[in-house]
Amino acid sequence: MKRIAIIGGGISGLAAAFYLERERRRGAEVEYTLFESAPRLGGVMWSDRVEGCLIEAGPDSFLTEKPWANTLCRDLGIEDQIVGSNDDARKTFILVKGRLVPMPDGLMFMVPTKLLPTAFTSLFTWGTKLRMAGELMSRPRTTDGDESAAEFVARHYGEEVVDRLADPLLSGVYGGDAASLSVKAVLPRFVEMESRYGSLSRGMLHARSRMKAAMAQAPASERRGKPLFSSMKDGMQQLVDAVAAQLSPQALRLSTPVRALQPRDDGWLLLKQGGGSETFDHVIAATPAYVAAALLQEAGPRLAGILNGIPYSSSVTVALGYDAGQFARQPEGFGFLVPWSEKKRMRACTYVHNKFPHRAPPEKRLLRVFLGGTRDQDVLSLADADILATVCRELEEIIGLHAEPRFTRVYRWNRAMAQYSVGHLQRVAEVEGLRRELPGLSLAGNAYKGIGVPDCVRTGRDAAAEALGAPLPAEAPASR
Ligand SMILES: Cc1cc2nc3c(=O)[nH]c(=O)nc-3n(C[C@H](O)[C@H](O)[C@H](O)COP(=O)(O)OP(=O)(O)OC[C@H]3O[C@@H](n4cnc5c(N)ncnc54)[C@H](O)[C@@H]3O)c2cc1C
Repeated sequence: MKRIAIIGGGISGLAAAFYLERERRRGAEVEYTLFESAPRLGGVMWSDRVEGCLIEAGPDSFLTEKPWANTLCRDLGIEDQIVGSNDDARKTFILVKGRLVPMPDGLMFMVPTKLLPTAFTSLFTWGTKLRMAGELMSRPRTTDGDESAAEFVARHYGEEVVDRLADPLLSGVYGGDAASLSVKAVLPRFVEMESRYGSLSRGMLHARSRMKAAMAQAPASERRGKPLFSSMKDGMQQLVDAVAAQLSPQALRLSTPVRALQPRDDGWLLLKQGGGSETFDHVIAATPAYVAAALLQEAGPRLAGILNGIPYSSSVTVALGYDAGQFARQPEGFGFLVPWSEKKRMRACTYVHNKFPHRAPPEKRLLRVFLGGTRDQDVLSLADADILATVCRELEEIIGLHAEPRFTRVYRWNRAMAQYSVGHLQRVAEVEGLRRELPGLSLAGNAYKGIGVPDCVRTGRDAAAEALGAPLPAEAPASR
């Protein structure tokens, strides 16, 4: 019987546990134990309910395009619980000089693909618009090294696009800033387009026409396209609960932080923080990289050093509930992003009741505000009352909302988002090489090859396959 330890019960560790459990039920000679330091499973994935509103304290959805979270739902038998974002209302605004300006039609991430909306938007000055037109002439270019996302985008479209688009968009995904993030790690598709077409706009136009051709071939039912974001009917916590319900209760050790991992001839000795140890044939460290570093300090000091060098950012999410009547004008679209140059503390605000209408009763309005990120780590040390006062003041300044919220919730996420800084892919390759020198060790989580929920699920699934020593079959499990 192969004994496997999973350290960390966020979605990465849970995905690993689920796929191990699935194979165990199918007859694999395997036994697993999941160690989680907190009293609950899910890590940053956590949903709350207040006055009929569904609040996401951490992730609120996942990109539909990346398949692994959807596949996990299918494998769990909860595919019918997936809900799509309300893309008919999809419109995102950017705060520019104190005014909310809609992102122009045809803007794909930060790449303009439609002439007229780009020409008439007040999001960019004429200088930037001319530069965007000139970008169409860029010649293909390949670079061996890495650079920051800001340098890359500025090279194509100028500093204004970095400030008003690239930075706020990347800050929304990574809680980081474009000047530090690695273009090869966070915008790999654009790097490929640059080397193939030179111009990102031309690359995007090619991609779009290929997509349209594929759509035309697709059955009528699929032609409307998939929603950009997917989530769970009862919130992201539903995914956590569905996995937990499949795992054997004896396999779960909550409130059990792991202190260290020591290699043995035939596996690993796992030392718990409160005392006591257990031996395993294989361990999956599904924790933040800096925790994995601490666990492996003695076993692999070089590996630990690199893991420790992966920076993390902290953030705060604030949920605010209102009555619909408290808004003089109903907010339109999915919400807005706030460039750093606007000198506000909030980085973004989502109109949850528009993005996922079932998350608030018709007479309620639910906003979710993000603060923090690499450039404002201090926000975490503020008292809730100070954070709320700042958020309410800025909401009044930006959308003219001066009503008192009916309820508020503040959630703090300390060092939760890995930063893929310049050179990240090189660091991950080194981690991979050094990890392989320690047999029976797998790493999973958001520190390596994707920060979003689907990528985390993929890392957990891959770690489970590695622990089993065989690829996982794709099809749904046979019943117990
Ligand atoms: C505020 C916020 C919003 C986000 N929004 C989105 C979104 O909308 N869409 C999206 O796709 N992604 C989003 N993300 C990113 C995504 O949610 C995370 O990358 C992902 O959930 C991380 O999962 P994980 O299991 O790797 O890590 P975590 O969830 O951090 O789990 C790690 C677990 O390890 C445990 N642990 C730590 N140390 C030990 C130890 N010594 N022993 C035992 N256990 C330990 C921790 O308690 C924790 O439960 C968001 C992240 C945050 C913070």
